[in-house]
Amino acid sequence: AKAKGKCRYEIFNSLMYAQVAGQLQLETDLRRGLEQGEFVVHYQPIISLFTNRMVGFEALVRWNHPERGLVPPDRFIPIAEETGLLVPLDWWVLNQACGQMRRWQSQFPASQKMVMSVNLSGKQFWQPDCLEQIEGVLHKTGLPRSNLKLEVTEGTLIDNDMPTSRLLSQIRALGMGLSIDDFGTGYSSLSYLHRFPFNTLKIDRSFISMQFSGESKIVEAIIVLAHNLGMNVIAEGVETSKHKQRLRELGCEQAQGYLFSPPVDAVSATELFDSQFAA
Ligand code: C2E
Ligand code: CA
Ligand code: CA
Ligand code: CA
Repeated sequence: AKAKGKCRYEIFNSLMYAQVAGQLQLETDLRRGLEQGEFVVHYQPIISLFTNRMVGFEALVRWNHPERGLVPPDRFIPIAEETGLLVPLDWWVLNQACGQMRRWQSQFPASQKMVMSVNLSGKQFWQPDCLEQIEGVLHKTGLPRSNLKLEVTEGTLIDNDMPTSRLLSQIRALGMGLSIDDFGTGYSSLSYLHRFPFNTLKIDRSFISMQFSGESKIVEAIIVLAHNLGMNVIAEGVETSKHKQRLRELGCEQAQGYLFSPPVDAVSATELFDSQFAA
């Protein structure tokens, strides 16, 4: 038994070692990746459930790792956050997304109303010059404010709500859009909805897939609540036409999900523009 115990201890130890080593390696890689331009932004169309046309995109970052291939954000964002690399990465994503949207606007003049949604992390939000940085990116890329929408989660707001509240009001007053992301997960506090000036609520995809195992009442209630508070609703993770059908019946305005398109690179997204705006 003793031998077995020791063996287990050693396995545990080497697993831990591998984990720590892996983490350190990832951290080094991340730094290098940022310097060498290994990150790319993908774009997922957001569709109007009334017209079935694209009304915007969400920018989603990916890491094109030389050995590991395309790494999804869930794998590197937590480490990027711990090491302070997420903030520069997020500003880079905002720059890319606004610049790309601006180029699409000149290439497809009929797309002037399309909106680019970008995720803002908590750390970014707490930077004292956050608003100046956003304005700087808009100025530099030439994208009008009304074509940018920022997505924040409830987790971002929970820390310390006074400065955020001011920042959120300023963002709205300047004419940018504001979404509460992943609604219904995490620290869901209904008071956020009237305390902060969101104009869009994004229902987390866990509710959309749950919908058809008998929980459609939750989705229905969220949509009614959002509408009563003057917000539009985007359903995330719409994968089947049954989902789409039901959401449309419930009055949900917009949707995003594999049914329409996964997130795609800028070249493929340009093809989506081509087909929507073909003469
Ligand atoms: P999110 O903001 O909730 O983004 C939506 C996620 O759902 C994306 O995952 C997207 O690929 C995925 N998705 C879209 N449609 C479907 C569907 O029909 N079914 C399923 N199963 N999934 C779908 P992704 O790109 O892996 O991003 C994961 C999370 O990483 C994002 O969740 C967001 O919180 C974070 N993230 C992504 N890019 C950025 C970024 O540039 N900055 C920050 N701070 N966070 C980011
Ligand atoms: Ca998001
Ligand atoms: Ca989301
Ligand atoms: Ca999510």
